[in-house]
Amino acid sequence: MSTNRRGGLIVISAPSGAGKTTLVRKALNSRNDLAFSISYTTRRSRAREKDGVDYCFVTENEFQDMISRDEFLEYAQVFDHWYGTSRNSVEALRTRGKTVLLEIDWQGAAQIRQREPSAVSVFILPPSRAELERRLRGRGTDTKENIGRRLRDALTDMSQWPKFDYVLINKDIGTALTQFKSILDGQGDAHRVASPTVRRKAEQILTDNA
Ligand code: 5GP
Repeated sequence: MSTNRRGGLIVISAPSGAGKTTLVRKALNSRNDLAFSISYTTRRSRAREKDGVDYCFVTENEFQDMISRDEFLEYAQVFDHWYGTSRNSVEALRTRGKTVLLEIDWQGAAQIRQREPSAVSVFILPPSRAELERRLRGRGTDTKENIGRRLRDALTDMSQWPKFDYVLINKDIGTALTQFKSILDGQGDAHRVASPTVRRKAEQILTDNA
């Protein structure tokens, strides 16, 4: 008899620059009950990205074929490109008892909430708008026009936080990681979206013009 229980599903969304990728990488490195769902995308790979590791890079046609074969648990268009989560890969990992982390945008998160009501969703906010801008400019992966667009999109994305189960404010990565793990262990009540402290802080970040 297998001792593996079916693993859970965790959705993590954030505006770009909130530090979501680093948080996910550190969480994966620190626990072996977690697995990352490698998304499919039609965007081109950036320097240092590996096909089949960071993303599975596919053509528009390949992506459309996957949609018509109903192979995505969710998919969405983000910054002019398509991104999707493979239903089969997620299922295979969960069957092996892994809790699967989906690092996806808020549109995908909304689809997962509908299809997988047991999924837990976490939204990561930067500590301030100014810090978000600083991080985006410091990444060096985008052109100037792209950064302007990413910033505008990031501000729109940030307004999605109330739809998630939990909100984390990523001021420093160590603290955010500890908080994220407490959510994974079912002990993250302090970070629930319904918490008045969480709401006040999140609203402050969104309205701050610093
Ligand atoms: P990037 O191109 O910077 O890696 O990612 C752009 C955005 O697409 C990020 O918000 C990221 O979370 C999101 N994304 C990555 N994979 C998926 C996916 O499979 N589905 C959806 N809906 N969004 C994704």
